[in-house]
Amino acid sequence: MAILITGGAGYIGSHTAWELKDQGRDIVIYDNLSRGHRQAVKDMPLVVGDLMDTELLEKTIEEYNVDSVIHFAAESQVGESMADPQKYYINNVSGTLSLLKAMKEKNVNKIVFSSTAATYGEPERIPIDEDSAKNPTSVYGRTKLMMEQILTDYDMAYGLKFVALRYFNAAGAHISGKIGEDHAPETHLIPIIMQVLLGQRDEISIFGTDYPTPDGTCIRDYIHVTDLAQAHILALDALYDGMESKIYNLGNGNGFSVKEVIDTVEKVTGKKIQRVEKGRRPGDPAVLIASSDKIIKELSWKPRYNTLEQIIETAWNWHKNHPNGFDN
Ligand code: UDP
Repeated sequence: MAILITGGAGYIGSHTAWELKDQGRDIVIYDNLSRGHRQAVKDMPLVVGDLMDTELLEKTIEEYNVDSVIHFAAESQVGESMADPQKYYINNVSGTLSLLKAMKEKNVNKIVFSSTAATYGEPERIPIDEDSAKNPTSVYGRTKLMMEQILTDYDMAYGLKFVALRYFNAAGAHISGKIGEDHAPETHLIPIIMQVLLGQRDEISIFGTDYPTPDGTCIRDYIHVTDLAQAHILALDALYDGMESKIYNLGNGNGFSVKEVIDTVEKVTGKKIQRVEKGRRPGDPAVLIASSDKIIKELSWKPRYNTLEQIIETAWNWHKNHPNGFDN
């Protein structure tokens, strides 16, 4: 029996695929390679296809004897989702419906789903626990919340069992340095700082210095991509053990400001980073910090790379050896 990993050639998907492969598990990657990289899943079974292709999904489930799914495939840029909502509603919501149709048709009833802290929007309290109000401020966040609701309805009606994992800020790279983050265009803080270190950008822009935080810049909870990957495997195995559907936050419970992240990169790499203070980026909440107590307690999740230094060291190790991402 195999695990189908949609979006498995992407950043978090490929780190999860490698963890599963290293455990000797049977997997098949399903990715349209619009954002994913073939080289990230070298030597793994890969079906190149789109989520909207229900027929190909059904064929893949049958051919590889799939009995569970980890579903990463999605559009994930907040800014783009506001400019082009149709792309997000079709690829994320309709794409997930197509996948669920194929699963239902083929009697696959276990799925681990990539959700996001963006489902909460501007938080009502810090740290954010799973019961906090869900008021997403972006189309991206709304699509993820809709997909959680769809999964809940499929559970009630058809007995689909799911775990939705609401990630905070995924960062870092595989400890071996063989895979890492490679987005085009890059919008995330840590990889952009790495591009400054590599001389590919002149400076890092700090988006907003007037937030109600100690140094005026936004605070985020950074979580290592391999710790995220481990959580997916724990969640999947809990479903195999008969667990009911669940929703869990995933973060380290520590917040770092944009300035603290830049300072830590300088400390870890011994290099100076040129910074420029800019206005706020629309839609950015001031502070996002997770409470992950629920997954720690219920699934014994233990993050291994839970310091900002470790996260940045692994990211730098990947970026300095792959300045052009997977292209070199
Ligand atoms: N940020 C920044 N400069 C950049 C990119 C990001 O100041 O070039 C800030 C952004 O405003 C946010 C934090 O860094 O407060 C993390 O942003 P990122 O895009 O990495 O993740 P997000 O929190 O949006 O998921």
